[in-house]
Amino acid sequence: MMVDVTEPLVPRMQGFGTTIFAEMSALAVRTGSINLGQGFPDTDGPPGMLDAAVEAIRSGGNQYPPGPGLPELRRAVAEQRRARYGLEYDPDTEVYITVGATEGIAASVLALANPGDEVIVFEPYYDSYAATIALAGAVRRPVTLRPDGGRFTFDPDELRAAVGPRTRMILVNSPHNPAGTVFTRAELEAIADLCREHDLIALTDEVYEYLTFDDAEHIPLATLDGMRERTVAVSSAGKTFSVTGWKTGWVTAPAPYVRAVQTVKQFMTYAAGGPWQRAVAYALRNELDWVARLRDSLQAKRDRLVAGLEAAGFAAVRPQGTYFVQADIRPLGFTDGMELALALPEKVGVVAIPTQVFYDDAAAGSHFVRFAFCKKDEVIDEAVERLRRLG
Ligand SMILES: *Cc1c(COP(=O)(O)O)cnc(C)c1O
Repeated sequence: MMVDVTEPLVPRMQGFGTTIFAEMSALAVRTGSINLGQGFPDTDGPPGMLDAAVEAIRSGGNQYPPGPGLPELRRAVAEQRRARYGLEYDPDTEVYITVGATEGIAASVLALANPGDEVIVFEPYYDSYAATIALAGAVRRPVTLRPDGGRFTFDPDELRAAVGPRTRMILVNSPHNPAGTVFTRAELEAIADLCREHDLIALTDEVYEYLTFDDAEHIPLATLDGMRERTVAVSSAGKTFSVTGWKTGWVTAPAPYVRAVQTVKQFMTYAAGGPWQRAVAYALRNELDWVARLRDSLQAKRDRLVAGLEAAGFAAVRPQGTYFVQADIRPLGFTDGMELALALPEKVGVVAIPTQVFYDDAAAGSHFVRFAFCKKDEVIDEAVERLRRLG
């Protein structure tokens, strides 16, 4: 067979070209726009944690850490799961440190889903899920979240109908990016029922576990009856401590699952960066008050952006968690979020993400654009000022 060097990308990854974030961030730079597209904070994490990273580098913590992660971080993660949720994990066999949640999710899907297995995801879904499922040769089965009573949720019958003989896993992201939903206990019970009935694995993405608003409470799926034994939970330091560039995450699961994840992960990156691990261990033990203040400030920023979007003529869905607001563009007379998102930078100098890129069923999300509010107040205010010129 001839080697085709003109189209070197393997077929299963075609269609996953440049991510929308790279495209929209480049557009932001080119047009000098305010970037409310990609979700990263524009202020730093807790100073004590930053100092701990510097100290780790200066004191020789610069060689390969153990593949499973530094013992002090694995212990800190186990303590956090116990103190916050009452979940017990053995730091030696049931906690594994990864290069961000992204690698934790990828290693879990690659380790646990066979080619042809189906993985249920709630759409709009975080963009790495689709690519990771494709890498594994597995098949994604989306279940659509739709606005209902001021928040996005799913129809339990649709979820049940999505489960079939090839279903292996349900990927559950709560608090949910980009919908902003924090699943209720009843919603989680509907998911857990199917997992128990059909012997499915739950893979949970809990990176926004601390960033919930008003009376929304993050409930790990593993705390529900019979779920700890079949749940692989993933979280990371990026969102909790405003260090998205540190790429330090973790998987907590029963030992056989962690061994499976290890088998894959050790050959992707072997280990995650050492200095960050020391600093995150410090932060999990010492900086949770800082995180509580971050949560309060993000809630205020959410309200600031929602009020501004409404004043500019959008219909905003007030999120219960995360960094993001979904804005319905139809009250302004627009119908196609992709078209609007591509025009916004030139028109008014603001970048947002068209929500339809997070769906298989693009029509379900075509009238929404996603704005991030993890930004300084003056940045949000200026963006809102500019968006008001749309009306
Ligand atoms: C940001 C984000 C991630 C990635 O986390 P990292 O620790 O940076 O890899 C994963 N899932 C969701 C839903 C996110 O928003």
